Amino acid sequence: MSAINLNARVLNNNAEASAAPARALPPRRPAADLQALAEQGSAELAQAAAANGREATAAEVVAWVARNFSADSVAVACSMADAVLPEIVSQQLPGVDVLFLDTGYHFAETYETRDAVAAALPVTVVDVLPVTTVPEQDAQHGAELFARDPNACCAMRKVEPLQRSLGGYELWFTGVRRDESPTRANTPLVTWDERNGLVKVNPVAAWSYDELMDYATDHHVPVNVLLSQGYPSIGCAPCTQPVAAGADPRSGRWATLEKTECGLHQ
Ligand code: SF4
Repeated sequence: MSAINLNARVLNNNAEASAAPARALPPRRPAADLQALAEQGSAELAQAAAANGREATAAEVVAWVARNFSADSVAVACSMADAVLPEIVSQQLPGVDVLFLDTGYHFAETYETRDAVAAALPVTVVDVLPVTTVPEQDAQHGAELFARDPNACCAMRKVEPLQRSLGGYELWFTGVRRDESPTRANTPLVTWDERNGLVKVNPVAAWSYDELMDYATDHHVPVNVLLSQGYPSIGCAPCTQPVAAGADPRSGRWATLEKTECGLHQ
């Protein structure tokens, strides 16, 4: 558990926690039923969009989830760049788990944001930890693996912990937006996540970065102070650089490498 955050829980590398989330989750419906529900939700939202002449809002997407899932069967992934998504989801699903992938490499400001989110919102922040600590990884693979093989580092410190943590849930929310990169341009609102075996919902897929920041300001949502210091996209400290005004927001991520994604949303 976070030493600071009374509302945070930890999903760590001990045998019990690695097999399931930190608390007992309700029984999961069969994957086939969840996949059918995802397809039904996508169709319902598309029909509503055709009737309304616009795509569903983030609140309407969350409302569909709230009609079909309980708060304790879903989770929100949050990098702690901002808390807009946890705020929107917790309005209709209070108490929802917010999964924070604590790679051990985050900026101090990111941990401060995590603590602010847990204090300000009706959510349960869950620190999801890799199997190894950074010193243990250094001992096994050599220091600064992120500089030599960032895909392997991300696989161990992000992808595997996320897949492990999602195991007990029926649905996860992400803050992926279509304007972030060409690889995210076709992000749907609701889909079946084949790799992780649960429903994946992206309520703010259609939002711009400015809309996200305007919402945070208007609703007094915690944001990472690094956003206003040249970091429009915030990941691990060794792999994130500030970018010039007007530049591709994600160009500061793995800036010297070909890598553009950590592998969480492939
Ligand atoms: S972003 Fe960098 S430090 Fe973080 S897990 Fe990936 S390679 Fe490792």
